[in-house]
Amino acid sequence: VIISGSDDVNATSPAPAIDGTALTRRLEQLGQIGRTAERGLTRLALTEADRDGRDLLTAWMSELDLDVEIDAIGNIYGTWHSGGGKPVMIGSHIDTVVNAGIYDGAYGVLAGLEVVAALRRAGVQPRIPLTVAAFTNEEGVRFTPDMMGSLVVAGTLSLEEAYAALDADGVSVGRALNEIGYRGRSHPTEHAPQLYLELHIEQGPVLHDEGIRIGVVEGVRGISWQRLVIHGEANHAGTTPMHRRVDAGHAAARIQVFLRDLASSNGTLHATVGSIALEPNAINVIPGEASITVDLRDTEDRLLTEAERQLATYCRQLEEEIGVAITSRRLARFAPVVFARDAVDQVEAAAKSRGLPVRRMTSGAGHDAQMMAAVAPTAMIFVPSVDGVSHSPCEHTVPEDIVNGANVLLDVTLGAVTSLPPAPNA
Ligand SMILES: [Zn+2]
Repeated sequence: VIISGSDDVNATSPAPAIDGTALTRRLEQLGQIGRTAERGLTRLALTEADRDGRDLLTAWMSELDLDVEIDAIGNIYGTWHSGGGKPVMIGSHIDTVVNAGIYDGAYGVLAGLEVVAALRRAGVQPRIPLTVAAFTNEEGVRFTPDMMGSLVVAGTLSLEEAYAALDADGVSVGRALNEIGYRGRSHPTEHAPQLYLELHIEQGPVLHDEGIRIGVVEGVRGISWQRLVIHGEANHAGTTPMHRRVDAGHAAARIQVFLRDLASSNGTLHATVGSIALEPNAINVIPGEASITVDLRDTEDRLLTEAERQLATYCRQLEEEIGVAITSRRLARFAPVVFARDAVDQVEAAAKSRGLPVRRMTSGAGHDAQMMAAVAPTAMIFVPSVDGVSHSPCEHTVPEDIVNGANVLLDVTLGAVTSLPPAPNA
């Protein structure tokens, strides 16, 4: 650890620590912007409420002497210029879904501010710059795709494509950025950091249920979406003997049960049939056609591919057994993201050295971190969500966990900004 000043100062400087009261106050204050009835919060990307949230965030960044910069997709960066080269970046988002809670996204950004404050209080002088970032339109409610700001930083989505995205009223991202005054100049791809860290509430029940305080996130589940159309024969429910039926509804139900069993017998697979549409969908007619969606998620690409293969094999088996014909169409396929092993190890070590119970886990939800992983070593820290509730006004994380997570983020950041050699800018 490099502490500025003499050895005397070094000896008496307190170890950096998060001011939990200040962090909670910021969360509650930002959480007042976009308030709706029923205690909810709606701060959709690039709306006036989002602008007000951005104004508050950038004011806080300036108070902390961070250099505020907005890029061409509206991502906000507050940088502590110290040393040289690419920064260590702490990021997340401050846009919300409809009727959201106050923690999703905002927690990671505001904890970043408190990390800066804690390092300043302790007299730490970083060897490389430290940036706190808030990415545009992570939630994707008003504009698709979601995780838009980080996608553009990663170079996966072009600025032009992002600008052209329209909301339900035909307003484009480019126009909405202009209207709220957050269309900056620098190209997002110039902001790739040397290391990316994101602190986030889990948004699921695993940590809460197991009484674990810190989730060490190793990556994000891959997703495979497909639609299966099952062709059978519509016929009379009363007169058609059971052995003569080519029942598309029966096949759909069998696939749903098959996937449920497959997931139960496999430690990491998540499988969901979220939609079943039967034709003609009548009480006294054997379904002649069924259209179902299949959502498969897993932590490794080979596991996801294996689940897809087993489903295809089962469909061939059903075709033979029931006499239906099944066609499949792929709707989406995202490979799992695996975070940088070194960075993940550092998160785990930091949590353990604070005496916090930890477990490694994979995120089932999407985060900016999965996009940033394409351009920088990346790690994520999860804290428990009470009862696993998120995207709801009831979303809650207890104050002790809010502080624990931010302290782990602080420790990993401190290690990085004081030990990483400056890396040249891209
Ligand atoms: Zn989020």
